[in-house]
Amino acid sequence: MAILLQQEAVERARLISVGSYSVDLDLTVSDTEFGSRTVVRFDCAEPGASTFVDLKAASIASIRLNGNEIHPSKVADGRLTLGRLQATNELEVVATMAFTHDGQGLHRAVDPADDLAYIYGMSFLDAAPQIYACFDQPDLKAPYDLTVTAPSGWVVAGNSPARETGSGRWEFETTKPLSTYFFTVCAGPYETVRDEHRGIPLALHARASLGADLRRHAPQMLEITKQGLDYYEDLFGIAYPWGEYHQFFVPEFNAGAMENPGCVTFRDQYIFRGAAGRAEIMQRSNTILHEMAHMWFGDLVSMKWWDDLWLNESFAEYMAHRSCSAATEFDDAWVDFGIARKNWGYAADRAPSTHPIAGNAAEDTDSALTNFDGISYAKGCSALRQLALYVGDDAFVAGVRDYLSRHSYGNATLADFLEAIGGHTDVDLTSWSTGWLESAGTDEICVAVEGDPIAVVEASRTTPQAHPADRPHMLDIAGFSGGRELWRTPVFTLGGDRTEQAPLVGLANPNLLVPNASDLTWTIPVFDEATLAALPQELPQVGDAQARQVVWAGLLNGMATATVDPRTVLATFETAFPVETNESLRHWTSRLVPRHLGAFLPYRERDDAVTRIAATAQRAIDAASDDAGSDDASDDAVVTPTRLLAATSTDEALLRAWVADEQIPAALAGDMDFRWSALIRLAELGLVDDAAIDAFAAHDRTLTGGQKALTAKVIRPTQQAKEWGWTQLEQNTGLSNYDCLAIAVGIFVAPDPDLVRPHIERYFRVLPALAERQGEFASQKVALEAFPVEITEDATSQAAQEALRTVRMTANVRRAIVDRAAVLDEALASMRRFGG
Ligand SMILES: [Zn+2]
Repeated sequence: MAILLQQEAVERARLISVGSYSVDLDLTVSDTEFGSRTVVRFDCAEPGASTFVDLKAASIASIRLNGNEIHPSKVADGRLTLGRLQATNELEVVATMAFTHDGQGLHRAVDPADDLAYIYGMSFLDAAPQIYACFDQPDLKAPYDLTVTAPSGWVVAGNSPARETGSGRWEFETTKPLSTYFFTVCAGPYETVRDEHRGIPLALHARASLGADLRRHAPQMLEITKQGLDYYEDLFGIAYPWGEYHQFFVPEFNAGAMENPGCVTFRDQYIFRGAAGRAEIMQRSNTILHEMAHMWFGDLVSMKWWDDLWLNESFAEYMAHRSCSAATEFDDAWVDFGIARKNWGYAADRAPSTHPIAGNAAEDTDSALTNFDGISYAKGCSALRQLALYVGDDAFVAGVRDYLSRHSYGNATLADFLEAIGGHTDVDLTSWSTGWLESAGTDEICVAVEGDPIAVVEASRTTPQAHPADRPHMLDIAGFSGGRELWRTPVFTLGGDRTEQAPLVGLANPNLLVPNASDLTWTIPVFDEATLAALPQELPQVGDAQARQVVWAGLLNGMATATVDPRTVLATFETAFPVETNESLRHWTSRLVPRHLGAFLPYRERDDAVTRIAATAQRAIDAASDDAGSDDASDDAVVTPTRLLAATSTDEALLRAWVADEQIPAALAGDMDFRWSALIRLAELGLVDDAAIDAFAAHDRTLTGGQKALTAKVIRPTQQAKEWGWTQLEQNTGLSNYDCLAIAVGIFVAPDPDLVRPHIERYFRVLPALAERQGEFASQKVALEAFPVEITEDATSQAAQEALRTVRMTANVRRAIVDRAAVLDEALASMRRFGG
C-alpha cells in the first residue's frame, strides 16, 4: 500500500478543500466484511487538475466522480487518481471493507466468554481508508454525516450524538469539522453506564463480560471525567466542543487510548478485573485526562502534519499530569510521571534513534509513527513544564488560550504555538525553542560541594557531544541526611543567558545531595561514588517521594550509561522497596529493577538476583502485615510485593497453592490475573505442562485468559515450547495483535541461554515478515517485546546490526530493533565496565 508523503499532502491541501463526508456503514454483511458507502464533496482550486483519494477496500462495487463511472480496477496500491476535477466535485464510492484483527481500521473481536462480537473503529494514523474512502491527511478537515446499520439491540456510538431511527438503523448528527484520523464508530452489545455533567451526556462502555467490573469502576472514572471537564473548561476558557462524551473500553487495543472527538477508545485492561492498586488507578485516571485534553489540543486544534505530533502528545501528557495533580485525589501524579514516563523518555533520548521534540522530519506517515515515543510524550511534557516556569504560568496559560481560540476547528504548527505564547512574554522564545524543542539529547547535571557549611559549589551541566545545545534548566536542589531534609533551594536557572549560581553556599553539607529534587526539569542527576555507596542506607529514609523518584532516575540511568554498577541498584532496591510508601515508586521499581537486572547482570548472577528480589518482596509483605490495622495500612502495600513474589518465587508449593486459589492475601482474593502470574511462574520454572495450562485456562474462557495461556506455554523452558512459539509467529494463522504479543513476552525467557540462542536468527527473519500481515502499530509492539535483550552477548548485537543492514523491514520494526539493540549494547557496556 502506498504511504502518504508529506510533499503529496501539501500539494493535495493546496489543490482541494473538503466540504463534507457522508458515510454509510453496514455492519451486518458478514463476520469478516462490512459495507461502506462514501460520498465526498470537495472543491478544487484548479479545475482540470487531478488528485487522488485513499481507499483500501476488500472489493469495490462502484465509483462515480461527478456522475461519471470509474472502473474499480483503477484503484491501485490503496489509491485512486481523480482526474479532470471541476471547481466543485462529488465522489461516490460503494465498497466492501474487511474487518481487521490488528487494532487498526474497523477491528472486530469475539469475546470467548460469551461469543459476542465487538467492533470499534481506529482510523489513526492512516487506517481511515480501511473504513471509508477519504483524503487521508490531518489538515483536510470536514464535517461528517454518518449512518450505520447494525444488528438490532447493539450499542452504536461515534463522533456525534446518534439516534436509532429503525431497528438497527442509526443516524448521527452532522459533526463539527474532523480530521480523517479522528473518525470512529463503536458498535456491539457493549454494557453501558450513563451519567451527565452540566448538560454533557457521559457514557462508559465495555464488553458485556466485563459488565460487573465496569460498574464497580464506573464511579471513580466518572468522577475523574467530571473533574477533568471542569478543570479544562476553566483553564482553556472554551466549553467542551463535541456534544456527548463516550468512553469505550475496547478489546485488543494497541495503544493506551485514542482521542476520537466525543468517542474515546481505551484498552479494556483498564477495566481491571482483579485487584487494582493506586498506581494503576492513577495511570487510568491520567489516560482519561490525557485523552480529554486532546478534545481541545489535537481535536479542536490539530497539527497540520505529523511532524508536529509533539504539539498533540507533549501537550496532552503535560495537561494530564497537571490536572491530575491539581484537580483529583492523585496529588502525587508528578512522582508517577517521573518514574513511569520519564524513565521511558530518557531511554528514548539515549538511543541512537533520538530526535528533537519538535520539527522532526516526518517525511511520510510511516516514519511519523516511529515518533510516538518517550520523547514526543515524556520529554515534550517536561519541556512544556519548563516553558511554563520560564515564561511564568500566567503567560503560558494565556498563550495556550490564544492558540486554542485562534485555530479552533483548524490546524496549526509549532510556529503558531510559539507565536501565541510569545504574545504574553518578553522572554526570547527562539533560543529557548532551539535548545529545548529543536535539539535532541539529555543534559547531565552534577553538583559538587566542599566544606560544612558548604563553602565551594560546582554545579555543572553536561550536554551530549553528539547533540550540542544550550538548554536553560529551571530546577531546585535538596539536601538530606539520615532521612531528614536539611534544606531545599528556591528554583534557579542553570544554563542559557539567565544562568544563576546554585544557591548553596552556607548550607549544611548533607549526606545525600539531590539535584532537581522536585523533578522540574529534564535531566539526569549524576551522583559521586560516595553518594552511591551511601544510597542503600540513605534513600529508604528520604521522606519526600519526588526526591526518591529523582534518585531512582539517576540510578536507572546510571546503570544504562555504565556509570552505576547494577549491583548498587539491586542493593538499593533491597533496602528501599520494603519500606517504600509511595505506590507509584513501589509499582514501577518492582517492574523496572528486575527487568533491567535480567539484562545487565551476567548470566551467573541472575538466579541469585531473582532470589534476592523474591526475599525483598517477602520482607515487604511481612512489613505490611506488621502494619496491618495501622493508619498507613493499604492494600497496595500487600498487593504489589505479592505480585512481585509471584513473578520471582521458586517456592513451588506456594505457587501451586496460589494457582489453586489458596493462601492468597485477602486484597488479591478473586484476582484471576494473579493466579495466572503464579501459573506462568510455574511454567517458567518448568513445573507445569501444556495440559495443566489448558486445564487452568478452561476456568478462564476470556480474551485475557487465552492470552495468558499462550504466554504460559511459550515461557516453558523446553525446546518444544520455544519451537511451538516460533511456529505460531511464523504461521500467524488467526492470531490477533494481542496473541502475538503474549507469545513475544515469553519467547526468549529461559534459564539457560543455550536453549534460546539458536532462535536469535529467527527473530530477525520472522519479526520483519510479521509486519507484512499485521499493521505497523501492532508489529512494532511485538518486535519490541520479543527482542532477545536477555541474551546479552556480542553475537546478539552483531546479529541485530547485520539484520538492520540486510533485511527488508518497515520503518517501525526497524525502529524497534534499533532501540532494543541500543539497550542490549548498554548492558554489554555495563558488563565490560563492572565485570560480566
Ligand atoms: Zn495522546
